Amino acid sequence: MTNSPTPPEDIDPEALEAEAEAQRPVMEDATVDDKIAQSLGIKIDSPIQPVRLTETDTFNFRCHKDVPCWNMCCRNIDLTLTPYDILRLSKRLDLRPAEFLLQYTVPALHDKSDLPVAKMKTTGEDGKGPCPFNQPEGCTVYEDRPAACRYYPLGMVSVKMKDMEGKDDFYFLVKEEHCQGHKESKTQTVGEFRGEQGAFPFERVNRGWIDILMKMASWKVLGGPMGKEPSAQTKKMFFMATTDVDSFRRFVFESKFLQTYHVDDTAQEIIKDDDEALLALAFDWLKNVLFNEATITLKEDVMQQAIARAREELAGGG
Ligand code: SF4
Ligand code: SF4
Repeated sequence: MTNSPTPPEDIDPEALEAEAEAQRPVMEDATVDDKIAQSLGIKIDSPIQPVRLTETDTFNFRCHKDVPCWNMCCRNIDLTLTPYDILRLSKRLDLRPAEFLLQYTVPALHDKSDLPVAKMKTTGEDGKGPCPFNQPEGCTVYEDRPAACRYYPLGMVSVKMKDMEGKDDFYFLVKEEHCQGHKESKTQTVGEFRGEQGAFPFERVNRGWIDILMKMASWKVLGGPMGKEPSAQTKKMFFMATTDVDSFRRFVFESKFLQTYHVDDTAQEIIKDDDEALLALAFDWLKNVLFNEATITLKEDVMQQAIARAREELAGGG
């Protein structure tokens, strides 16, 4: 995989839909209650305390410029950028997302889900230097810093329990030896901390992306999705749609996407300019392609063709 998203003209949504159909797993939502730590790869001796915190649980932490460890957490980072991080940072730096990706990120596979993501490029010849936005006085993009920087020292997990309507969010405290913030006398609830850190818009916009990563990660641990990996093409599309809104917009408007899927006129007008709405469409489309969720509807004639194709195949096979 490269940093350059696939040009939309290379992709035929109908072909992708047919390919996805062949790959779709048939599996109910997994039960992950007692396997959360396992699915996240959390080991008991890791700096992450495998203790669930809820919204109202409290923890002790404060970070400020006079802590002896100031800036230590911005060096040698392994920072996965969320779709909304890329939007915010690109805007902040007056770059288009594709330019931002080229200058500041490296492509990588998300550890637990194996889906492609963009990670922040670090400085230094060995790649172990500080984050490119780290300066002695602190973070130069502070108001638009990524979600992971806002959450630290918390980790978030979003899971769907069996028989539960919605998702359940849990938080984990990350206690790294060098971080002195835990010794500061400030106690806050998880909810207060998230609010202070301006995390809510990030959670709102990234929700669909997190759902996809978590579902894929838990399926891997629990034996799904029936041993079938998404194809290289699907992974490429996942990367393009979740990192580069310009490419995904061209894909929607310049390929057969709108002939394949039902997107009403109002929604089409909105996604012409609204990047957050476009990301929401991208997540819905990916959930359908990856998990067969009813998050986007095939057009009636495309549906009929797919049914006819399936019948022919069945008849041929029988
Ligand atoms: S974006 Fe800012 S807070 Fe985050 S690692 Fe870089 S310098 Fe640190
Ligand atoms: S290591 Fe912890 S206390 Fe020190 S600067 Fe980073 S977050 Fe703040």
